[in-house]
Amino acid sequence: MKRLPAVIVVLFLMVVCLSAPGWTQMGPVKAGSGVKAPQGWYDISVPLKQGMVYYPTDPVPPKIYRYSDRALGSMVTMSMLEIISHTGTHIDAPLHFIADGSTISDMPLDATIGHARVIEIKDPAKIRVAELEKYNIRKGERLLCKTRNSPGVYEASRYTEDYVYLDGDAADYLVQKGIVLFGLDNITIGHAKDGNNVPRTHQALLGAGIYILENCALAKVPPGEYELVCLPLLMYNGDAGPCRAILRPLN
Ligand SMILES: [Zn+2]
Repeated sequence: MKRLPAVIVVLFLMVVCLSAPGWTQMGPVKAGSGVKAPQGWYDISVPLKQGMVYYPTDPVPPKIYRYSDRALGSMVTMSMLEIISHTGTHIDAPLHFIADGSTISDMPLDATIGHARVIEIKDPAKIRVAELEKYNIRKGERLLCKTRNSPGVYEASRYTEDYVYLDGDAADYLVQKGIVLFGLDNITIGHAKDGNNVPRTHQALLGAGIYILENCALAKVPPGEYELVCLPLLMYNGDAGPCRAILRPLN
Protein backbone atom coordinates (compact mmCIF):
# COMPACT_ATOMS: atom_id res chain seq x y z
CA MET A 1 0.00 0.00 0.00
CA LYS A 2 2.87 2.39 0.80
CA ARG A 3 4.29 2.05 -2.73
CA LEU A 4 1.15 3.31 -4.49
CA PRO A 5 1.84 7.04 -4.09
CA ALA A 6 5.33 6.58 -5.57
CA VAL A 7 3.86 4.86 -8.64
CA ILE A 8 1.38 7.68 -9.09
CA VAL A 9 4.19 10.26 -8.83
CA VAL A 10 6.26 8.43 -11.45
CA LEU A 11 3.28 8.21 -13.82
CA PHE A 12 2.52 11.89 -13.27
CA LEU A 13 6.14 12.85 -14.07
CA MET A 14 6.07 10.71 -17.22
CA VAL A 15 2.95 12.51 -18.46
CA VAL A 16 4.50 15.90 -17.69
CA CYS A 17 7.76 14.99 -19.39
CA LEU A 18 6.09 13.71 -22.52
CA SER A 19 3.84 16.72 -22.93
CA ALA A 20 6.23 19.55 -22.06
CA PRO A 21 8.42 21.10 -24.74
CA GLY A 22 12.04 20.52 -23.80
CA TRP A 23 11.58 17.00 -22.54
CA THR A 24 10.70 15.13 -25.64
CA GLN A 25 13.09 14.34 -28.46
CA MET A 26 11.14 13.18 -31.46
CA GLY A 27 12.42 11.88 -34.76
CA PRO A 28 14.06 13.85 -37.53
CA VAL A 29 11.99 16.38 -39.43
CA LYS A 30 10.66 14.56 -42.48
CA ALA A 31 12.05 15.67 -45.80
CA GLY A 32 9.29 16.80 -48.11
CA SER A 33 9.00 16.00 -51.80
CA GLY A 34 10.33 19.43 -52.66
CA VAL A 35 10.12 23.11 -51.89
CA LYS A 36 7.87 25.34 -53.95
CA ALA A 37 9.59 28.39 -55.35
CA PRO A 38 7.49 31.51 -55.88
CA GLN A 39 6.10 31.59 -59.42
CA GLY A 40 8.57 32.99 -61.93
CA TRP A 41 11.55 32.32 -59.68
CA TYR A 42 14.08 29.53 -59.36
CA ASP A 43 14.77 28.43 -55.82
CA ILE A 44 18.50 27.69 -55.65
CA SER A 45 18.50 26.82 -51.94
CA VAL A 46 19.27 23.34 -50.64
CA PRO A 47 16.65 22.52 -47.97
CA LEU A 48 17.92 21.97 -44.43
CA LYS A 49 17.04 18.41 -43.50
CA GLN A 50 18.32 15.42 -41.62
CA GLY A 51 20.72 13.40 -43.77
CA MET A 52 21.81 16.31 -45.95
CA VAL A 53 25.36 16.54 -47.26
CA TYR A 54 27.99 18.21 -45.07
CA TYR A 55 31.68 18.93 -45.27
CA PRO A 56 33.68 15.94 -43.94
CA THR A 57 35.72 17.96 -41.43
CA ASP A 58 32.60 19.37 -39.73
CA PRO A 59 32.53 18.21 -36.11
CA VAL A 60 29.09 16.62 -36.46
CA PRO A 61 26.56 16.02 -39.24
CA PRO A 62 23.63 18.47 -39.38
CA LYS A 63 21.07 17.38 -36.81
CA ILE A 64 17.55 18.64 -37.39
CA TYR A 65 14.72 17.14 -35.42
CA ARG A 66 11.37 17.76 -33.78
CA TYR A 67 12.03 18.92 -30.27
CA SER A 68 8.36 18.56 -29.45
CA ASP A 69 5.49 17.47 -31.63
CA ARG A 70 1.74 18.02 -31.28
CA ALA A 71 1.12 14.83 -33.25
CA LEU A 72 2.83 12.97 -30.42
CA GLY A 73 1.03 14.73 -27.59
CA SER A 74 3.13 17.83 -26.97
CA MET A 75 1.43 21.18 -26.64
CA VAL A 76 3.38 22.68 -29.53
CA THR A 77 5.50 21.53 -32.47
CA MET A 78 9.04 22.89 -32.45
CA SER A 79 12.28 21.85 -34.09
CA MET A 80 15.89 21.83 -32.97
CA LEU A 81 18.74 22.58 -35.36
CA GLU A 82 22.32 21.62 -34.56
CA ILE A 83 24.29 22.81 -37.53
CA ILE A 84 27.49 24.65 -38.28
CA SER A 85 27.26 28.03 -40.00
CA HIS A 86 28.35 26.50 -43.36
CA THR A 87 25.38 24.15 -43.69
CA GLY A 88 23.37 23.89 -46.89
CA THR A 89 23.22 26.90 -49.18
CA HIS A 90 25.19 29.56 -47.33
CA ILE A 91 27.22 32.73 -47.56
CA ASP A 92 30.88 32.81 -46.51
CA ALA A 93 31.86 36.18 -45.04
CA PRO A 94 35.48 37.43 -45.20
CA LEU A 95 35.90 36.60 -41.48
CA HIS A 96 35.84 32.90 -42.46
CA PHE A 97 39.45 33.11 -43.72
CA ILE A 98 40.55 36.67 -42.86
CA ALA A 99 41.29 37.34 -39.17
CA ASP A 100 39.86 40.88 -39.09
CA GLY A 101 37.57 40.39 -42.09
CA SER A 102 34.02 41.68 -42.29
CA THR A 103 31.24 39.50 -40.99
CA ILE A 104 27.77 38.35 -41.90
CA SER A 105 26.30 41.17 -39.83
CA ASP A 106 28.56 43.67 -41.66
CA MET A 107 27.52 42.40 -45.08
CA PRO A 108 26.10 45.06 -47.39
CA LEU A 109 22.71 43.81 -48.55
CA ASP A 110 23.55 44.53 -52.18
CA ALA A 111 26.29 41.88 -52.04
CA THR A 112 23.58 39.25 -52.39
CA ILE A 113 20.57 41.15 -53.77
CA GLY A 114 20.49 42.47 -57.33
CA HIS A 115 21.53 41.58 -60.85
CA ALA A 116 23.37 38.25 -61.16
CA ARG A 117 24.68 36.14 -64.00
CA VAL A 118 24.69 32.36 -64.20
CA ILE A 119 27.39 30.94 -66.48
CA GLU A 120 27.85 27.30 -67.39
CA ILE A 121 31.34 25.90 -66.87
CA LYS A 122 32.16 23.07 -69.28
CA ASP A 123 35.51 22.06 -67.75
CA PRO A 124 34.86 18.80 -65.86
CA ALA A 125 37.70 19.36 -63.38
CA LYS A 126 37.99 23.00 -62.36
CA ILE A 127 37.07 26.56 -63.21
CA ARG A 128 40.07 28.07 -65.00
CA VAL A 129 40.97 31.53 -66.24
CA ALA A 130 40.81 30.45 -69.90
CA GLU A 131 37.12 29.54 -69.62
CA LEU A 132 36.20 32.60 -67.53
CA GLU A 133 37.85 34.90 -70.09
CA LYS A 134 35.14 34.03 -72.62
CA TYR A 135 32.47 35.65 -70.47
CA ASN A 136 33.55 39.29 -70.37
CA ILE A 137 33.17 39.41 -66.59
CA ARG A 138 32.44 42.93 -65.40
CA LYS A 139 33.17 44.94 -62.28
CA GLY A 140 30.42 44.69 -59.67
CA GLU A 141 28.99 41.42 -61.03
CA ARG A 142 27.38 38.73 -58.94
CA LEU A 143 28.61 35.62 -60.72
CA LEU A 144 27.21 32.12 -60.19
CA CYS A 145 28.99 29.17 -61.83
CA LYS A 146 26.90 26.17 -62.84
CA THR A 147 29.00 23.04 -63.35
CA ARG A 148 28.57 19.31 -63.71
CA ASN A 149 28.25 19.32 -59.88
CA SER A 150 24.53 20.10 -60.26
CA PRO A 151 22.55 18.39 -58.88
CA GLY A 152 24.56 15.36 -57.74
CA VAL A 153 26.82 16.83 -55.09
CA TYR A 154 24.26 18.84 -53.12
CA GLU A 155 21.45 16.29 -53.37
CA ALA A 156 23.72 13.51 -52.14
CA SER A 157 23.65 12.42 -48.52
CA ARG A 158 27.42 11.99 -48.51
CA TYR A 159 30.21 14.33 -49.47
CA THR A 160 31.96 13.39 -52.69
CA GLU A 161 35.52 14.34 -53.61
CA ASP A 162 34.63 14.31 -57.29
CA TYR A 163 33.51 17.86 -58.01
CA VAL A 164 34.40 20.92 -60.04
CA TYR A 165 36.14 23.64 -58.01
CA LEU A 166 37.72 27.04 -58.48
CA ASP A 167 41.34 27.17 -59.60
CA GLY A 168 43.64 29.50 -57.60
CA ASP A 169 44.60 31.63 -60.60
CA ALA A 170 40.92 31.87 -61.53
CA ALA A 171 40.17 33.23 -58.05
CA ASP A 172 42.84 35.92 -58.58
CA TYR A 173 41.31 36.68 -61.99
CA LEU A 174 37.86 37.22 -60.45
CA VAL A 175 39.40 39.56 -57.87
CA GLN A 176 41.03 41.57 -60.69
CA LYS A 177 37.67 41.78 -62.44
CA GLY A 178 36.10 43.25 -59.30
CA ILE A 179 33.07 40.96 -58.86
CA VAL A 180 31.12 41.33 -55.60
CA LEU A 181 29.74 37.79 -55.21
CA PHE A 182 30.92 34.38 -56.39
CA GLY A 183 28.65 31.35 -56.28
CA LEU A 184 29.26 27.67 -56.95
CA ASP A 185 27.11 24.53 -56.95
CA ASN A 186 29.19 22.78 -54.28
CA ILE A 187 29.53 23.03 -50.52
CA THR A 188 32.98 24.62 -50.89
CA ILE A 189 34.66 26.49 -53.74
CA GLY A 190 38.08 24.87 -53.23
CA HIS A 191 39.47 21.35 -53.24
CA ALA A 192 41.81 19.86 -50.64
CA LYS A 193 43.31 17.49 -53.24
CA ASP A 194 44.89 20.47 -55.04
CA GLY A 195 47.66 21.67 -52.68
CA ASN A 196 46.68 24.87 -50.89
CA ASN A 197 43.69 25.49 -53.17
CA VAL A 198 41.10 25.74 -50.37
CA PRO A 199 42.83 28.54 -48.44
CA ARG A 200 44.14 30.17 -51.61
CA THR A 201 40.74 30.57 -53.30
CA HIS A 202 38.97 31.62 -50.11
CA GLN A 203 41.69 34.07 -49.09
CA ALA A 204 41.82 35.61 -52.57
CA LEU A 205 38.05 36.23 -52.79
CA LEU A 206 37.30 36.95 -49.14
CA GLY A 207 40.47 39.06 -48.79
CA ALA A 208 39.10 41.28 -51.56
CA GLY A 209 35.75 41.59 -49.76
CA ILE A 210 33.96 39.25 -52.18
CA TYR A 211 31.24 37.24 -50.45
CA ILE A 212 30.86 33.61 -51.51
CA LEU A 213 27.60 31.74 -52.10
CA GLU A 214 28.26 28.03 -51.64
CA ASN A 215 26.06 25.04 -52.42
CA CYS A 216 23.63 26.77 -54.75
CA ALA A 217 21.25 24.38 -56.49
CA LEU A 218 21.60 25.31 -60.15
CA ALA A 219 20.49 22.12 -61.92
CA LYS A 220 17.27 23.64 -63.28
CA VAL A 221 18.65 27.11 -63.92
CA PRO A 222 19.68 27.90 -67.52
CA PRO A 223 22.68 30.19 -67.97
CA GLY A 224 21.60 33.83 -68.24
CA GLU A 225 20.82 37.08 -66.48
CA TYR A 226 18.82 37.06 -63.27
CA GLU A 227 17.71 39.06 -60.30
CA LEU A 228 19.15 37.41 -57.19
CA VAL A 229 17.50 37.65 -53.79
CA CYS A 230 19.55 35.98 -51.09
CA LEU A 231 20.05 36.77 -47.43
CA PRO A 232 22.00 34.78 -44.85
CA LEU A 233 20.72 34.41 -41.29
CA LEU A 234 21.78 37.47 -39.37
CA MET A 235 24.28 35.88 -37.02
CA TYR A 236 26.01 38.70 -35.14
CA ASN A 237 29.68 38.83 -36.19
CA GLY A 238 29.09 35.57 -38.04
CA ASP A 239 31.69 33.94 -40.29
CA ALA A 240 28.93 32.51 -42.50
CA GLY A 241 25.20 32.01 -42.63
CA PRO A 242 22.73 29.55 -44.15
CA CYS A 243 20.49 31.39 -46.60
CA ARG A 244 17.48 31.17 -48.86
CA ALA A 245 18.46 32.16 -52.38
CA ILE A 246 16.14 32.67 -55.36
CA LEU A 247 16.68 33.81 -58.95
CA ARG A 248 14.21 35.55 -61.29
CA PRO A 249 15.02 35.51 -65.02
CA LEU A 250 15.51 38.96 -66.53
CA ASN A 251 15.13 37.96 -70.18
ZN1 LIG B 1 31.37 28.03 -46.40
